[in-house]
Amino acid sequence: MSILKLGTIYGEIMKIGDLAKATHTKVETIRYYEREGLLHEAVRTMGNYRVYNVEHLDRLSFIRHCRSLDMTLEEIKTLLRYKDFPPEDCSNVNALIDEHIEHVAVRIKELKHLQKQLIDLRKNCSGTGLVNQCGVLTELSKASRAEQGSNNLEFNHVNGTHKFSHK
Ligand SMILES: [Zn+2]
Repeated sequence: MSILKLGTIYGEIMKIGDLAKATHTKVETIRYYEREGLLHEAVRTMGNYRVYNVEHLDRLSFIRHCRSLDMTLEEIKTLLRYKDFPPEDCSNVNALIDEHIEHVAVRIKELKHLQKQLIDLRKNCSGTGLVNQCGVLTELSKASRAEQGSNNLEFNHVNGTHKFSHK
């Protein structure tokens, strides 16, 4: 039976590339979600093709939207669990979102601190001298030397709400 024929029986079906395109998601990310159990495994056709249906599309769109709200995979996993087995009341869902709002608040505070650090750094230079006398570069060198050996160095870049989240 051809994929086309199956498609007419089970509704819209897609290959992983189509699913990737439809959700602006990388193929490897889709596979990762599958491995992590967020997305149900692809359906096997009789010809042993891996195909995805509208349910996959819907679920992946849900995951991607949650990612755009900077939720972690763990948070999304929890939400999906509630979605799959709706509990009596939705207080747990609301609690999860409240917690995530708190994560964002913490990150805002950290970013404000970072902004102040950069403004202070900028004050080290009038901007009219030569590069080898630049107060900003001098200050950066000084601060980086002071930080040598501190574990601050590893995670010092501007990150999302959760510093260690990915995909
Ligand atoms: Zn969160």
